Amino acid sequence: MQKFYDFPEFVELTPTARVEKSRHGWRAKCLQRLIRLDLPVPPTVALPVETVKAIATGQMPDLAPLTNVFGQDFLISVRSSPENPEWGGPGTVLNVGMNDAMHQRLCASHGQEAADALYLNFVQGYAIHVARLDPDMFSAEAGDGALEQALAAFAEEMDDDFPQDPLLQLREVLRSMARAWEGTTARLLRQAKGAPAEATLGLVLQEMALGIGPGLSGSGTIQFVESVTGQPQITGRFRGQSQGRTNAVDTHYLTSDPRGAALEDVAPDVFAQLCSYSPVCRTRLREEMQIEFTIESGRIAVIDAVRVQRSARAAVRIAVALAEDGVIPRDEALLRVEPRALTELLHYQVDPRAPRDVIARGIAASPGAATGKIVFSASAAQAAAARDEPCILVRRETQPEDIRGMHAANAVLTERGGMTSHAAVIARGLGLPCIVGCNSITLNSRDRSFTGPKGRVFREGDIITVDGSSGEVLLGEAEMLEPALDDGFRTLLRWADNVRDIGIRANADTPDDARTARNFEADGIGLCRTEHMFFDEDRLTVMREMIFVDSPEDRAAVLERLLPMQRNDFIALFDIMAGAPVCIRLFDPPLHEFLPHDREGLRELAEAVGRPLSEVTRRCEALNEFNPMLGMRGVRLGVTLPEIYDMQARAIFEAVIEAGRRGSVIVPEIMIPLVSASREVELVKTRIDAVAAAVRTQQKAQFSYRLGVMMETPRAALRAGEIAEHAEFMSFGTNDLTQMTYGLSRDDAGRFMSTYVNQRVFAEDPFHILDIEGVGELLLIGAGRGRATRRDITISVCGEHGGNPESIAFCRAAGFDYVSCSPFRVPVARLAAAHFAL
Ligand code: PEP
Ligand code: MG
Repeated sequence: MQKFYDFPEFVELTPTARVEKSRHGWRAKCLQRLIRLDLPVPPTVALPVETVKAIATGQMPDLAPLTNVFGQDFLISVRSSPENPEWGGPGTVLNVGMNDAMHQRLCASHGQEAADALYLNFVQGYAIHVARLDPDMFSAEAGDGALEQALAAFAEEMDDDFPQDPLLQLREVLRSMARAWEGTTARLLRQAKGAPAEATLGLVLQEMALGIGPGLSGSGTIQFVESVTGQPQITGRFRGQSQGRTNAVDTHYLTSDPRGAALEDVAPDVFAQLCSYSPVCRTRLREEMQIEFTIESGRIAVIDAVRVQRSARAAVRIAVALAEDGVIPRDEALLRVEPRALTELLHYQVDPRAPRDVIARGIAASPGAATGKIVFSASAAQAAAARDEPCILVRRETQPEDIRGMHAANAVLTERGGMTSHAAVIARGLGLPCIVGCNSITLNSRDRSFTGPKGRVFREGDIITVDGSSGEVLLGEAEMLEPALDDGFRTLLRWADNVRDIGIRANADTPDDARTARNFEADGIGLCRTEHMFFDEDRLTVMREMIFVDSPEDRAAVLERLLPMQRNDFIALFDIMAGAPVCIRLFDPPLHEFLPHDREGLRELAEAVGRPLSEVTRRCEALNEFNPMLGMRGVRLGVTLPEIYDMQARAIFEAVIEAGRRGSVIVPEIMIPLVSASREVELVKTRIDAVAAAVRTQQKAQFSYRLGVMMETPRAALRAGEIAEHAEFMSFGTNDLTQMTYGLSRDDAGRFMSTYVNQRVFAEDPFHILDIEGVGELLLIGAGRGRATRRDITISVCGEHGGNPESIAFCRAAGFDYVSCSPFRVPVARLAAAHFAL
């Protein structure tokens, strides 16, 4: 093809022209590729970014040479072409060059009605977007006299006739588009989408392919995969006698459809030609494209193409299919899927296309969405579940006694709390959608209702939807998309496992959690919070008794009952994990989470321990701490009441022996929580070693185990050197470590976190995104000092941050062995880890 025109101000898109994305924008680059593929693209010229920038500052290149490409009496479109399609840009202007003479010609060739509609459309667009006249004056529908009225209104407002010179029109259109790009709103909008402050705009000029005329004419779009599922399917539409979205006379389906006329039936040859573009684009552009086309009297023109818009599940399916067909390498398929987007596949999601009536907003604490009737208590949630009625548990905040209700509910909404509050942690573990810290609602427990913004009142039984991915509470039943744990998803994650170089374990407390962890192919369990094994109603009381009793004999009796429960728990975990590592944390029950909070709870406990209510109340008051998260927790319990950890160690060892009898060789990892001094570890280790020796002798069995610590206090990080003398592994509990480094309560921070983030005191909620500068430094200090003592010490993170891509990048760079996170975050973590390794 002969190149008509190519000098710095413009370049005609020919197969050999030098077109660069950074200079001419993504659209110009894409159109040139289509031309190279021999698709019927009308003559097209690209204006590079420096030309557009010059135009915005008031200069104007000589446009006359463009007539070498488009002719003297041209009719062209102008489209924006920034470097990245996400950055938007001013809207397309069609039919530049339309004037009285062209109108006359079109009347003759295409008929008066079509010619009038095109001219009217252009006058209206030009008046509003270029001459910036009042849109109300130029909104008339096509019809009798509308064109003449628009021309007259223009002349009246501008004191001049509508411009007839095509080059003058073009100059004005270019000027208005170049300036629109520089406007403040446009700037802010694109920066919100990740565009740099200095982002530039290229423009694309293209001869109009009219889409109107005798015979089959119109415009449409076609794509060969479905945008939501990613399955191969021809979708799109064709509008007869139309240009783009306007002036549609009749709409056709593309493929045969009982609901109406279809292009496939009306014009099979044209349809077949459109379909032939699918393999070409797919293999040569290495992408699924949506093609915009026009048909004029049966002749196709391809005027544009964009990447098919896609949901997360479609993105996975498309990337895997392209790699399996050898179009792209597997590594590229991995990089084409945004790790966080995988979360969408694991849960029900509110259909992004559906309308939303948002009644309140809070912290998106556990992803996914669920609809149900509002209930205000755990018992009401259970009752609803028994009636098979989906329900949403709404609480000020949750306590262990709410666990039953959380299990029964389909989602949880709390007025208070942050990312590591009880409700948030448990809901993530259960894979239950959850919003916490929803300050914009006020609970009125007495009349079982809550008041939302603007005084709207919602009562028990009202239907709401909790969208735990966005933090939005919606009124009524929202339209949902189903979870999609399909083959594509599993394939992609297996590829990720082959390239990642950091382990991904799951935090799993119960057999159900462990099954989820296994289902999501975690490398093992990185944190089993044993006190969480006692959240169920029938067990909560035993746990409470253990905390409550104060004589050694009574404690021994309670522990006697706890031992078989724990042993069975561990056997179940070992069975499910089938030889994968399991790290069991010894009890760390913050007392306030386990002691009864109301009379009913106190009475139940009194019954259980066979003591008068008054005595039980007194003892609970005595156990009450001013600052329970900094109180009798973790290893402090183990040092003060060592029989408790003895019992747990015995249960673990006996379970290992039992698992061994069933054929699994298990080397359990036993983890001591909330350590701050090496002597704590020494004391606990001595006793655990003694229990191990006793069990080996009693059962005449051999087993080994690994003992390690949880690094959750700043002092532990600072004294890691001496702590490591007694520990084979160190796992950073970044929830507590963040709390203690900032001196910021993890349960209360939600109240002011948004103010802090909005005022940029914190860049992000540090309970959500690891504070690399502060907490991160403690991690590095701890890891460095631990390794200096014990070179092969295993180092990991098991706080909620473990599932966060940014934290994974940090841990990987620091050479940590693994991260451990809620089971439902394991897939995101596996893919993110692969991204960092590529
Ligand atoms: C932590 O503190 O980071 C941790 C994982 O333990 P928990 O959340 O149980 O306190
Ligand atoms: Mg902790």
